[in-house]
Amino acid sequence: MDTNALIKQAEQQHLLSETQILQILEDRNCNASLFAAADRVRKKYVGDEVHLRALIEFTNICQNHCLYCGLRVENRSVTRYRMTPQQILQLTQKAAKQGYKTVVLQGGEDPYFTADVLVPLLRQIKAMDLAITLSIGERSYEDYRAFKEAGADRYLLRIETTERTLYEKYHPNMSFDNRLRCLRDLKRLGYETGTGILVGLPSQSLHSLARDILFFQKFGADMIGLGPFIPNPDTPLKNTPTPSLTSALKVMALTRLLLPDINIPATTAMEALQSNGRFKALQSGANVIMPNITEGEARKNYALYPGKAAAAQAPLGLRQELETALRAIGRRIGTGYGGHTHLFDKSHGHTNSL
Ligand code: SAH
Repeated sequence: MDTNALIKQAEQQHLLSETQILQILEDRNCNASLFAAADRVRKKYVGDEVHLRALIEFTNICQNHCLYCGLRVENRSVTRYRMTPQQILQLTQKAAKQGYKTVVLQGGEDPYFTADVLVPLLRQIKAMDLAITLSIGERSYEDYRAFKEAGADRYLLRIETTERTLYEKYHPNMSFDNRLRCLRDLKRLGYETGTGILVGLPSQSLHSLARDILFFQKFGADMIGLGPFIPNPDTPLKNTPTPSLTSALKVMALTRLLLPDINIPATTAMEALQSNGRFKALQSGANVIMPNITEGEARKNYALYPGKAAAAQAPLGLRQELETALRAIGRRIGTGYGGHTHLFDKSHGHTNSL
């Protein structure tokens, strides 16, 4: 089938096979029509509101070895920090005052933040009437349950790649099965569960990306966060090529076609690769932005990849300037919590109440 016809099919039925996804990923001439179709699906299912999530990067201490990440334990050139629960609470209060409805607490895998430390903090944040998203990596079922009971609503844990051999190559001492176990536990506990990948890791094929997209659909993700892999000079992958923004946008747009009603952020890595990257993402299927409200040195030291801090500060990262920028593309800041509304009935392949 002609690629444009495939895109049309996906826009209407939200179904594609692995080979069909591959054909779209390989075809350089279909990009504009793919992005436009994803933009229409975004508008139809999740509307013109752009939901904001205040991102707090509360610790850059990490015990993992992820080969691509600047927070990896072996990286001695980053200054480590850990906010106190009090500092986190202060930032959260600020976010609530500025009108945010969701805070995202993200961090390295820092053993200090046990359930005993986090549970009272989560309860206090919940009392501010905020939705809480956690992004703190792999934990036990018991921890996930304790966080949920204390008020966490959502959890972000990227699968990073669904190709087991690649996953295990880039994550020494970690197991793909445990990553899957975590995602299943989160879902079972009733979290709105977000996952996602890095696009353009060395040795990652388009075939592999096609399978990643089908995994998102099969898993029934509530949110997909993905971005280009950006080589970090302080990591073992420093000398590997940087992928194009287009490659990440294509994976994101296909994700929107197949999971029409989920939340998809325009990620900071897209902005780091190209200024206005997030703006492009919002017009190619994305409906969420996560402004970074981390302050001072911490913001600089949460150095996952180069260019991140500057990108976070670009106009779309600042709430005040967002309104105008969004209006120019017919969008507006969301007023509610912006959770996943299940408008698409996966089992029947049709749409509920639209
Ligand atoms: N410890 C948490 C948070 C990790 S940081 C967890 O495991 O979920 C959040 C995301 O940053 C990661 O999931 C990864 O996909 C992304 N990231 C890390 N290094 C990166 C790089 N060099 N380029 C682009 N994204 C990167």
